[in-house]
Amino acid sequence: MAVLDILVYPDPKLRRVAEPVADFNSEIRDMVKDMAETMYAAPGIGLASIQVGIPQSIIVIDVSDDHNDLKVLINPEVIDSNGEQIVEEGCLSFPGYFAEVKRAEWIRFRAQDLQGETYETEAEGLFAVCVQHEIDHLSGKLFTDYLSRLKRQRVTKQFQKAARQRQRDMARKVG
Ligand code: ZN
Repeated sequence: MAVLDILVYPDPKLRRVAEPVADFNSEIRDMVKDMAETMYAAPGIGLASIQVGIPQSIIVIDVSDDHNDLKVLINPEVIDSNGEQIVEEGCLSFPGYFAEVKRAEWIRFRAQDLQGETYETEAEGLFAVCVQHEIDHLSGKLFTDYLSRLKRQRVTKQFQKAARQRQRDMARKVG
């Protein structure tokens, strides 16, 4: 088990599109364990494989208060949705940044579990927000894509500046 590095915006790898998982082997099981450990350590309530540089269609989510209700979604897709909710979202790839996003209030989704078994289930409220946010990651979509142009420009600049600062700090350490 290992805590993985989480990619931070504007890392271009966050725009990659995940490939479907075809083999439900021990490598995938280990990957899911590492992703769960990474999510809990962050701490966060959801993590998509794209965020740790693995372009395979895997999501881990735990929205429970006690962090004991891990959901594993492999090759997930939303098959029905209804209603609207506006919730302030954060993202482990945008540390310290929060913004309101409009999402469906209720969704029905299909996914596979660690054994490759397909299941269908419903989600509402925070769980539904989280599933929609993480599924977006699998196609390279970020929650800031939903913001107004002005807000998006502001957050893009803020994170580009922070990335340059990290590079300078790194160069100083190497030098
Ligand atoms: Zn995110």
